[in-house]
Amino acid sequence: MKYDLIVIGAGSGGVRAARIASVHGAKVAIVENNRFGGTCVNVGCVPKKLYYYLSQLNKDIENYKSYGWSIPKASLNWKLFMKKKDQEISRLNKIYEGILNRNKIDIINGTAQFLSSQKIKVGKKSYQAKKFIISTGGKPRIPNISENSKLVNTSDDIFSLKKLPKRMVIEGGGYIAIEFAFIFANLGVKVNLVYRGKQILKSFDSEIVDFLIQSTPKGKIKYHLESKIQKVNKSKNELIVNLSNRKKISTDYILSAIGRIANTENLGLENTNIQLNENKSIKVNRHFQTNDSNIYAVGDVIDYVNLTPVAIRQGHFLADKLFNNKKTIEYDFANIPTAVFTSPQIGTVGLTLEMAKKNKIDAYELTTNFKSMKKSFSKTNKDTFYKLVIDKKDKTIIGIHIISDEAAELIQLLAVNVVARNTLDEFRKTVAVHPTSSEEIITI
Ligand code: NDP
Repeated sequence: MKYDLIVIGAGSGGVRAARIASVHGAKVAIVENNRFGGTCVNVGCVPKKLYYYLSQLNKDIENYKSYGWSIPKASLNWKLFMKKKDQEISRLNKIYEGILNRNKIDIINGTAQFLSSQKIKVGKKSYQAKKFIISTGGKPRIPNISENSKLVNTSDDIFSLKKLPKRMVIEGGGYIAIEFAFIFANLGVKVNLVYRGKQILKSFDSEIVDFLIQSTPKGKIKYHLESKIQKVNKSKNELIVNLSNRKKISTDYILSAIGRIANTENLGLENTNIQLNENKSIKVNRHFQTNDSNIYAVGDVIDYVNLTPVAIRQGHFLADKLFNNKKTIEYDFANIPTAVFTSPQIGTVGLTLEMAKKNKIDAYELTTNFKSMKKSFSKTNKDTFYKLVIDKKDKTIIGIHIISDEAAELIQLLAVNVVARNTLDEFRKTVAVHPTSSEEIITI
């Protein structure tokens, strides 16, 4: 049988593309060699957010003590947490499988390899389709440490951590490294963060990043900037990490979070006309078509903006375009909101002032920072910072950058203002909700 569409990879982008294509009447199959749901469900956003929630208790306890509560020392059953986390992931795996079954999508378990532009093989069987979508995602970049690289873990391994270590070295300055640095610091782990550059989260607003660094739990994260892990040795009960700046750190666990690379190996791409970018991701045009006209690609494998909701939009758009030419969903990829699950969280959408300048937009900022009411009695410093970037020409809000305990939830809705090209006047017209933290952004 010849399928209308075969999707390779049942992660967020692939499952959405398969489902929408099937809804439009296409005969669809999906190939997967692992658990359903891809990186996000299995070793990404979902378990990370559960780790994040787990890590918030100590902070909350400290705050509530300032209200007058006396709370005995809390203790964590790590094994129980991990069991619950695994159960939740299995539940989500089944939901994904259910979506495929309900939509009459044939599931092919195994690894796909192209034999030609119309044919793949999985195991001993071959399958033909008129169109293919590659949505194989990415995997952690393995650090180039000559000896003992087995002693270094990636973000895949951190989700099967057997017990909470006392000390941890984390390398990287991006989303994964910084989120885990704060998660583990708030769980009581002493973290040494090693980053090769001058400013962590380098593409974020620098004032927001400075604010985050000021909020680091006391003594819990030590930042080693302009430095790299060079060598790792195992001594009796600990690991010794040698940095390029000649410092030595004794630790119990090493996490390398130095970026991710596209899963394009062993796909038989040499039997197609697909071309790769320099970093091994798949080259596509703005309609996600590869250099081989039958084959498309979405999600992390094209290394555009590697976020789950972006992959989902791409998969949906493509399935609409290929199998229902009348209707395609609209999206604004210029203003993608995103959040970093640190403590406090960072939320961001649109341009920073620096980016606006680079784009020759005459812009200015309005900012406010304060200690949220919830922390009224605690000795902590200010915990909230809001920034609007405004186009001078017509007062359009072109960027919003915030840091607060609820930044991820807030930025989702604030982003609508940037996408809708609302102006500062719309903010001014809106009546505040009192007493909240977010009213400060309306009255900024
Ligand atoms: P990022 O691309 O965000 O960061 C990679 C970091 O590793 C950068 O700081 C980079 O340095 C550094 N790096 C790269 N190569 C090397 C090297 N050879 N040696 C030392 N350091 C190196 O990747 P992540 O792995 O943190 O995250 C992957 C993707 O996952 C992100 O792009 C993001 O889209 C997504 N993600 C999203 C999350 C969210 O939405 N909350 C959470 C987690 C992941 P430099 O800055 O100098 O380039």
